Amino acid sequence: MKSITRQKPFEEITEQLRGFSRIFIAGCGTCATLTRTGGVEEVTAMREKLESQGKFVTGSVVIPVACDDVTEALVGEHQGSILSAHAILVMACALGVHRVGNNAFNKPVIPALDTLFIGMDDGQGVFHEVCAQCGQCLLGEMAGVCPITACHKGLLNGPCGGTNNGKCEVDKEKDCAWTLIYSRLKEQGRLEMMRKYQPPKNYQVVPRPRTVRVF
Ligand code: SF4
Ligand code: SF4
Repeated sequence: MKSITRQKPFEEITEQLRGFSRIFIAGCGTCATLTRTGGVEEVTAMREKLESQGKFVTGSVVIPVACDDVTEALVGEHQGSILSAHAILVMACALGVHRVGNNAFNKPVIPALDTLFIGMDDGQGVFHEVCAQCGQCLLGEMAGVCPITACHKGLLNGPCGGTNNGKCEVDKEKDCAWTLIYSRLKEQGRLEMMRKYQPPKNYQVVPRPRTVRVF
């Protein structure tokens, strides 16, 4: 399971860094390294690009796990370089941005990446979405196929009228998620689940941020 990120266009990054001439860069040694968006190579490349734009990079660090509480200690180790910067550019997922931001000595924290989804890789460097963190998991009733991330229309009650010979009408190269759900439920002897109506998800106002108390 990985937090899948994509680097923002460089123009967007420089726009967000407008007015800041001294930058500290923080990358992540885990997910952002695997997706090649914020590892050592990408942080080095970002440093060079920013310097070519006339910025001064006061320092950089690739935090082993930017979403972990080790971030606080590592950011602390670079306190001098951070304090001499005008802003911190974070090349990690949004969780890493939050982590760095909470320990940023009141410096502006700018995300260099967009956090897309929770994904799995196929072993060949391709990551595909497996969960959109909808907050109400249906995998148990859908034989392990997520209807939100696997169906192009995100249908909770499918299939749509366009499914054809097991393929999706939106992308004919792709298996229809609801045909997969049907086939797996059939193999499991649970086809009656196909008849269960899934009510629309509740997108009404909820207190934010959502909180889970473990203790
Ligand atoms: S139904 Fe899909 S998007 Fe929702 S929690 Fe389960 S895997 Fe994630
Ligand atoms: S064909 Fe299947 S996967 Fe494609 S949009 Fe319709 S139900 Fe979803």
